[in-house]
Amino acid sequence: MTEPALAVDGVTKSFGGLIASKDISLDLRPGEIHALIGPNGAGKSTLIAQIAGGLRPDTGRIWLEGRDVTGLPTAERARLGMGRTFQISSLAMEFTVLQNAVLGALGQRGRVFRFWRPVMRESDLLSRAEAALEQVGLAEFRAVRTGDLSHGQRRQLEVAVALTLEPHVFLMDEPMAGLGAEASRQLMGFLDRLRDRAPILLVEHDMDAVFALADRISVLVYGEIIATGTADEIRADPRVRSVYLGA
Ligand code: ADP
Ligand code: MG
Repeated sequence: MTEPALAVDGVTKSFGGLIASKDISLDLRPGEIHALIGPNGAGKSTLIAQIAGGLRPDTGRIWLEGRDVTGLPTAERARLGMGRTFQISSLAMEFTVLQNAVLGALGQRGRVFRFWRPVMRESDLLSRAEAALEQVGLAEFRAVRTGDLSHGQRRQLEVAVALTLEPHVFLMDEPMAGLGAEASRQLMGFLDRLRDRAPILLVEHDMDAVFALADRISVLVYGEIIATGTADEIRADPRVRSVYLGA
């Protein structure tokens, strides 16, 4: 079997008496969308934060392309190819679309200056930003003020910002949240194509989207993964039906 792009191995995290992650293991394989579903408060965002580096697990390891990144800060993980979008918009509304893409490439990563030397030329920065906008279909909006974009377009821009790093894996926490039907459909089409560039660990509430898109689905309940499988396997799993789907 090929090496997973991302692996979570026995991760546990407690907040006081609350166990938010209970011995969680999962992996993300090249080319796949692996969806993480579960009720509110199940621990999905907490897990994403541990993978991205904002939260330190109490026990367990995080592997990125065979490399143990558990002790590395967020910026270093990002530099190694961990891309993510955020549940809450991180865009500057008064800036243009292109300015946000450049800012993202610059700021989020902290990788423009290392050892007091620029590692990316300004022209490279610009062409990366433009390429990312092209990929998400926002090239023609480059000069538009971000605050004037639709909700769906802003979500696409957030993905473009993440793409400027040319990530090897993607973490997405509820990218469809707040989108209308048409914008959701567009974003789904985009994620469907994106998986070939970088596999996606997708936290998503929209079950239709999850079942349509995901190669595999893991179900998290009270900090524990109770099932992992294909859409058909998850639909048929009696534990999932009783605990989660309410059937
Ligand atoms: P989900 O994203 O699945 O809705 P979260 O990961 O946000 O769930 O939360 C999982 C549980 O951990 C919840 O009970 C939440 O209240 C708790 N929690 C999350 N972050 C913290 C924190 N920083 N301190 C204390 N409790 C937290
Ligand atoms: Mg959450």
